[in-house]
Amino acid sequence: MVKHRKTVETLEPYRPGKPISEVKRELGLTDVIKLASNENPLGCSPKAVEALIKWTNEVSLYPDGNCTELRNALAEKFKLDPGQFLFGAGSDQILEIIAQTYINPGDSTITGWPSFSRYEAVTRIMDGNIIRVPLTRDYRFDLDGILNSITDTTRIIWVCNPNNPTGTIITAEEQKAFLKKVPRHVLVVLDEAYYEYARGGDYPESTALLDEYDNIIILRTFSKAYGLAGLRIGYAISNKEIIELLNRVRGPFNVNAAAQAAALAALGDQEFVQRSVQNNEEGKRCLYQAFEEMGLEYIPTHTNFIMVNVEKNSVEVFKALLQKGVIVRSGDIFDMDNWLRVTIGTPEQNRRFIEALKEVLQR
Ligand SMILES: *Cc1c(COP(=O)(O)O)cnc(C)c1O
Repeated sequence: MVKHRKTVETLEPYRPGKPISEVKRELGLTDVIKLASNENPLGCSPKAVEALIKWTNEVSLYPDGNCTELRNALAEKFKLDPGQFLFGAGSDQILEIIAQTYINPGDSTITGWPSFSRYEAVTRIMDGNIIRVPLTRDYRFDLDGILNSITDTTRIIWVCNPNNPTGTIITAEEQKAFLKKVPRHVLVVLDEAYYEYARGGDYPESTALLDEYDNIIILRTFSKAYGLAGLRIGYAISNKEIIELLNRVRGPFNVNAAAQAAALAALGDQEFVQRSVQNNEEGKRCLYQAFEEMGLEYIPTHTNFIMVNVEKNSVEVFKALLQKGVIVRSGDIFDMDNWLRVTIGTPEQNRRFIEALKEVLQR
């Protein structure tokens, strides 16, 4: 037997939302909807599909390892320097690159809990330790608790804003006050995977802080509002020095050419993003109303998913919903045993989920 790293024994594989094909096969169902992975229920921009079809003529060529066109388009959009961007096969891969760049064995990182599970995984893969600070009573990141947990070994703070799975945000004001107190030798990763759904109101425009703080990395993705989850492309925004370091760790052709072509076209179709956000707002209101009618507690959300308290074991409710062809996420993986996380769908999908939930809970 080849000897593996001891650390690997302590890791658990990521548990993704159940794919539609698997549910169809296992349960003999033909009509299945998936509201489990926060994908865009409207699909993606038709312009992205067009770009993909054109791209098929170039499959034999390596991609542009620098993502030049997309980099320039984003720099233009955010009025930043092209050197302030780094691209990854999903922002998931950028989390890995950040961990590989900054975490030595024995270093630690801090995040909230429940939150996105990959912060812990990428830390532990590098033989680091993660401190999970419980969310506040209103399911928000406890920024004071996080500040109090900083020690000499702290390298990174992962801030999920809005937070997955609770959909809550920290406000621009809270984030500013927080960053002022974080020592400059600690990196703050602002994971804004749901930026397009959350923006406006009290939600921070974090790019405006890049001049003032040299210890922040902002993460965005094309997987959620842009609807390109299957292609795997996300990006980091930071200062040129940090990006230059991350770029040494990044693999040469880590973002495939199809993803680059589609993302560039999708970026040019903001009308589609607006339509997606609007569908989400309408679906949100519809689900809130249904939960209220059923007498179920829910967490008001700034994202395209909602946590709802079903007041019984959510794994069982999850399984009962599966039987009706509706895939959601049970809260057990987030230590929220009686909660379900449901992605906001099309009006038709939302109605179907509500009907199924009413039957399962008999409410
Ligand atoms: C979905 C998600 C990501 C990862 O998205 P990619 O598809 O890897 O770009 C990162 N962070 C959070 C909080 C997410 O929910």
